[in-house]
Amino acid sequence: KARTTASSFEVPNVTLDDIGGYGDVRKELLRALALLNEPERIPKKFRSELLPKGFIFYGPPGTGKTLFAKAVATAMNATILVVSGPEVTDMYVGESERKVREIFAEARRNAPSIIVFDEIDSIASRRSGREDGGSRAGNAIVAQLLTEMDGFRPEVQVLIIGTTNRLDIIDEALLRPSRFRAVAIGLPDRDARREIAAVHARHFQVTVRDAVLDRMALVTRDMNGDEIRSIFRDARVDQLLTSPDGDVGPDRLGTVVGRLRQGRHQRDLNR
Ligand code: ATP
Repeated sequence: KARTTASSFEVPNVTLDDIGGYGDVRKELLRALALLNEPERIPKKFRSELLPKGFIFYGPPGTGKTLFAKAVATAMNATILVVSGPEVTDMYVGESERKVREIFAEARRNAPSIIVFDEIDSIASRRSGREDGGSRAGNAIVAQLLTEMDGFRPEVQVLIIGTTNRLDIIDEALLRPSRFRAVAIGLPDRDARREIAAVHARHFQVTVRDAVLDRMALVTRDMNGDEIRSIFRDARVDQLLTSPDGDVGPDRLGTVVGRLRQGRHQRDLNR
């Protein structure tokens, strides 16, 4: 069982420019940011109702949910704490609630701030989470979370972001419009894959012609952002090991894609 440990909020190092694709998600977050960053645009009497309090980013693994949370924090000039859901639920009865209370208190002290609950389904699933206490114990954590959120004061900026692969099992109480807004972050489409490839080509300083990016967008069909990143990363490693003075060319990228696909195939066979 995990012990309660001190939580430290950090200054994020991701910006929206580090994220490829997902124009609609970006647009929605920019709208929220316009309010969060300039609450004085909202008449006082509406402020607590109109300011966003939380988002749930849902979709398959490796698509940039945590990345988006960090980029929002940067755009808000906020500190951020990423908490793993299972870590909170895997505590003795009563301790989880205390932990949630502590995290929120710390968030208020570090405001503007964002709390990310990774795998929030483990905390807030309908059947709910905690194996020892069953649903009652699980609901006590949800209740604590909602109490904290409902008590937000607009002048202390704290935003909650949950991530999950399973929106379908999230407690509806959280999905009420006044609480969390659900934002889908699915697998990237072809244009998104092209943009993600461009982001990581830039990051790993791989020079790619437009035609190569087009090709990458095609051959990465059904891959997520994390896998696309790993192509550029692995190609860079290969190059450093085999021809330190050379460059990462299209051939090398192709080889890595082939290897990645082969690896996936093996995993599927072993399943
Ligand atoms: P999980 O559900 O497994 O936590 P996630 O959706 O939170 O996954 P992230 O941790 O945000 O995924 O992404 C993992 C890594 O993959 C990122 O650090 C980034 O390098 C890369 N990545 C994923 N999506 C994108 C994207 N849209 N643009 C650029 N890089 C991406």
